[in-house]
Amino acid sequence: MYHGIGVPPEGVRMRGLYVTPRMFRFQMWYLKAAGFKVVSLNEILDFVRGGQPAGRLIALTFDDGYMDFHENAWPVLKRYGYPSTVFLVPGLAGGSNDWDSGKLGARKKLMDWGKVRELSAGGVIFGAHTMTHPHLTEIPPAQMKEEIRGSKNAIEEQTGRPVEFFCYPYGDYDSTVSREAREAGFLGATTVGRGFTLNGDDPFELKRIPIRLNTWPLSFIYKLHSAYEVRKSSAGR
Ligand SMILES: [Zn+2]
Repeated sequence: MYHGIGVPPEGVRMRGLYVTPRMFRFQMWYLKAAGFKVVSLNEILDFVRGGQPAGRLIALTFDDGYMDFHENAWPVLKRYGYPSTVFLVPGLAGGSNDWDSGKLGARKKLMDWGKVRELSAGGVIFGAHTMTHPHLTEIPPAQMKEEIRGSKNAIEEQTGRPVEFFCYPYGDYDSTVSREAREAGFLGATTVGRGFTLNGDDPFELKRIPIRLNTWPLSFIYKLHSAYEVRKSSAGR
């Protein structure tokens, strides 16, 4: 689970939401060097449903759709031929992170539709992350529905491709929210629950491994090869 790929500006809070381009390059190199197979979320889903994994699979996700994905992540992903999924907030496309710019102390530019279409043509997969990034369990049901369905429709309209995966903002969901995501036609959804994805997991509760500013090379390696993330997950979220 990545958010922005860039150097955090002076004075910004929640610096963990950034990964520097230098670290990102190391991480992508390491995945190849260590023999991981970088796949799409669809391939992870095949495995969840009982398919046999061809080696150690990993999927890369980027929440919120920041402009720095286009600048700093995409050239690296393209070079390695890695699939990736970017979760967009279409109500704010071309704008910025209104939902947490105050808390973060920084306005971060979100990709506009031109960039999204360019990347979609280049093979980047887009997922939906609601229209405006609310806490889905804290808004009226009709609005929750509209946030979920509206984001799927908007991205499909702009890219001309099916939007198959959803990402709960803040990892905030309950059984009503996940049922709505299923009924809206998504195949699965990602959470902020930590750990590895296992055979038989609920496709609407996909766990992830957070990669942050302070994920130094050794901790990156440790996260991927040890039970560290699984322990973090059982310690509660
Ligand atoms: Zn988000």
